[in-house]
This record gives sequence, structure tokens and C-alpha cells, in this order.
Amino acid sequence: MNRLLSIFYPRKCPYCSKPLKHDMTECLVCRAEFPKVPRIEALPTGEICVAPFTYMGAVRRAICDYKFNGKKFNGYSLSEAVLSSIKDVYYKDMGFEIITCVPMSKDRKNERGFNQSEFIAKYVAEQLGKPFENLLCRDSGAAVQHEMTYKERISNNDDSFHIVSSDKVRGKKLLLIDDIMTTGTTLSRCSTILRESGAERVFCASVAISKEYGI
Ligand SMILES: [Zn+2]
Repeated sequence: MNRLLSIFYPRKCPYCSKPLKHDMTECLVCRAEFPKVPRIEALPTGEICVAPFTYMGAVRRAICDYKFNGKKFNGYSLSEAVLSSIKDVYYKDMGFEIITCVPMSKDRKNERGFNQSEFIAKYVAEQLGKPFENLLCRDSGAAVQHEMTYKERISNNDDSFHIVSSDKVRGKKLLLIDDIMTTGTTLSRCSTILRESGAERVFCASVAISKEYGI
């Protein structure tokens, strides 16, 4: 992590809140507890999603603090963990040409101040030396996923996502990033739009996958 950024963000471990020294993105105790093997799940539409974590415990708190409580520093640790899973699982297929993310509506982004998935996708893109682009957009007034129950999310026929420009995705291998995969419906919807717009392949990654997924 950039030293200048560390001046602006308080450097505490995202998982246990202990102060951090040097350029660490989490403490050594918490890092030792990270699962060594990424979780790999198939989406309802057949794409694969990889994630370093299951959405529970300290990881759940770290993600919520990052998204809702202004602890943007957590984003670096979460992004590093996603990057590591992507490298482990997609190593042979790393021909991604563009990295993109699940979009947030303008209203929502203004309200929160940032799109947490975009932050992670940009970090991953920079580390992989690939371009990041916002290939999808989302209508304002779309139903808010995290305020819905698991069942409501599965049956939510969400048509609020749209392609920004088909020309940019035609024939391309894409990496699509979200923060949490709960039912897989959002990533499926976004992957389908990208494929229908001409993408050759869509690989997915998220920070965490819900406990219930795949059960
Ligand atoms: Zn810690």
C-alpha cells in the first residue's frame, strides 16, 4: 500500500482492530487464519465465481465496516485477498482483457460516496496490469439487495442492469468483480448481459460468498 495513503487512512487490522505497523494490510495473526484455499462456486448461469472468504464472522464485520462505516482502509486487505484467489484459481486462464465490476446506481453511489466493488476491481486491475472499465450501469431506484431476504433475492427479477457499450466487450475475456455473492443472481444477471453483448468469456470473483450458497 502507498505510504501517502496510509497517512489518510487509520491503519488498523480490518479483522481485529489492532494497530498495524509498516505497510501491512492486516495483522499477522489474522492473516494466518485466512483460508489457504479459495472458495469456488458455479453461478446459476454456469460461470465460475472465486472468493477468498465465506461471508461470516470477522470477515463479515470487515466488509460491513468497509461498505457502511467509512473504514476504507479495509478495502486494501479485502482487495489483496481477492487478488490472491484470482491468481490461484484463474492462473491458466488469466487472459482477462478488461476488469470490470457490478455497478451501483448514481443515486446509491452519491449516497455512499463510492462503489466498494469498483474500488476492489480497480485495485485488482492495477496489480494485474490490466485496464479497468465500467462496462455496466444500473438504474437509480433499483431494489436494494442487502435489504432483501435470501428468498426475495433469488426471485428478484432484476432488469436494472445495462451494458454501457457493446463495442467494448465484443470478443473480450472479462473479469467481473462484486463484493459479496449471496444468491449469485446479481453476478449471473451481469454476466448474462456481458455475454449477450458479445463477451467471449466472463470470469467472476468476489470478496466473500454467503454461507447458504450451494447448500
Ligand atoms: Zn488482526
